[in-house]
Amino acid sequence: MKAATLVEASDGDNLGLRSRRGTALRSLVGIAVLGAALVVAVPAAHPDAARTRTELLGRSVRGEPIHVLERGDPDSPLKILVVGCIHGNEPAGIAVAEQLEALPLPKELDLVVVESANPDGVRAGTRTNANGVDLNRNFPWRWAKRGARGDLTYSGPRVLSEPESRSLAALIRRVRPQITIWFHQHLGIVDESGGSIAVERRFATLVGLPLRRLQRNRGSVASWQNHLFPGTTSFVVELPAGSLTGREARNYADAVAALAG
Ligand SMILES: [Zn+2]
Repeated sequence: MKAATLVEASDGDNLGLRSRRGTALRSLVGIAVLGAALVVAVPAAHPDAARTRTELLGRSVRGEPIHVLERGDPDSPLKILVVGCIHGNEPAGIAVAEQLEALPLPKELDLVVVESANPDGVRAGTRTNANGVDLNRNFPWRWAKRGARGDLTYSGPRVLSEPESRSLAALIRRVRPQITIWFHQHLGIVDESGGSIAVERRFATLVGLPLRRLQRNRGSVASWQNHLFPGTTSFVVELPAGSLTGREARNYADAVAALAG
């Protein structure tokens, strides 16, 4: 009986199935660890708000896991996606993502967090993935083949050629976030990336960075999202060089939560 309940919860933990399995999850009390899936369900006045779910989103070229964590109310129309790192040599945003995993959240927020979408690049200290592809030039928006392996902005041989970008694209299509934040480095600005300038300006004000407009590159994921889902906002935050202090990372995490307020 208990085992059956846990299997049910694990299946229902899949982000794509959460609506149908929501009732089963609400009745679950406890912690289940099955393979890569972690489910924590705690009954509360607002049971939706207390849930945290982690699942294996995909694997890198070298087989490293890419996890996605979802917190809050999965039925909420307000969905915010945060990706801590996509260029492996720009990892400071991972600390922000980690802060978001424990931060008290507004009640009606569905927060989706990917700490690092490029674990091979982080490990090697490279911008690109292990195939030498710039993941942020590998998405469908105005994609064109550019460069070759070894170039910092190599587009890859074709659209979504890389397992990391395919995993991200699947997540984005499934969640359809209203707001997405991509952390990069090292310019110390918030990029007017498309979508709502008001949202981008608000975030810039909250974190104390200037708002600027960078070039919109072919194959970039933020541009792809902003064109695929009009009315939503996906934007780039270029953190300063170096790593963030714990306090700074918390400030950025607080600003993410404040966008839901
Ligand atoms: Zn970058």
